[in-house]
Amino acid sequence: MAPDPASPPEVVLSGVAKTFAGGTEAVRPLSLTFAAGQTTALVGPSGCGKSTILRMVAGLETPGAGAISIGGEPPAETLRRAGLSVAFQDPSLLPWRSVRGNIELALGLARRPLIAREVDQLISLVGLEGFGGTRPAELSGGMRQRAAIARALATQPSLLLLDEPFGAVDELTRQQLAQDLPRIWEARGTTTLLVTHSVSEAVMLSDRIVVLSPRPAEIVADIAVDLPRPRDPGLARTPGFAALADEVFAALTRGMAMRQTPLAAQ
Ligand code: ADP
Ligand code: MG
Repeated sequence: MAPDPASPPEVVLSGVAKTFAGGTEAVRPLSLTFAAGQTTALVGPSGCGKSTILRMVAGLETPGAGAISIGGEPPAETLRRAGLSVAFQDPSLLPWRSVRGNIELALGLARRPLIAREVDQLISLVGLEGFGGTRPAELSGGMRQRAAIARALATQPSLLLLDEPFGAVDELTRQQLAQDLPRIWEARGTTTLLVTHSVSEAVMLSDRIVVLSPRPAEIVADIAVDLPRPRDPGLARTPGFAALADEVFAALTRGMAMRQTPLAAQ
């Protein structure tokens, strides 16, 4: 049965693995279910395979083994009907189009109505008011990332995939986005996967944190984030937040130890 495009999908990875042509094993067989409407953070050290996992969920990379289901359909199908959006670390904005032009193009490709007022609202939501007519080359890296986030949200996807989307965003704007974005995906009931290597960002934004080992990615810990919403920056100074952040750090450390070759074996 075709999934209801309006409701957020459950995402199921069954034994998904990936080894690249050159022989790099990026992901060991991984089985994970992301609940409909939840925000899950994937946290792990640089190079562990996070982007590869996200790209496979987005239908942009084919798993070497296993299967991925998005609300019962394969990723390529969800991608085809614009049921998912991705905002990458390195935003792929079209250089010859303004911020607004990039958002409008995404709406056109997804065959979604273009409502100027809504595009304006998105542009100001990501703090780019006054920059709608500006081309990417004239924006800072952080501003380009914010434009990419606005573009990803514009098509109102039921599955939102964010790959380190705040890497170049300054601290103050990052805090503002951490406040505003969850409100959008909560209101819409979006299923969200957030790849990040920032522990505090993961705790602040997600309902669940999956901690991955260094490459090849394996699950080290699966942590429920049972903090109340909406979350404000003050939450980061509470004992509950600190305890969760400690748990994530401890899992990252265990993951590093898992992949370390004992000196005696070298
Ligand atoms: P992360 O996002 O966690 O930093 P990636 O998923 O980007 O990690 O990469 C995981 C590993 O796979 C790295 O060793 C990277 O060099 C390798 N890799 C990623 N994409 C490719 C590719 N297209 N071809 C070959 N190796 C790749
Ligand atoms: Mg990455």
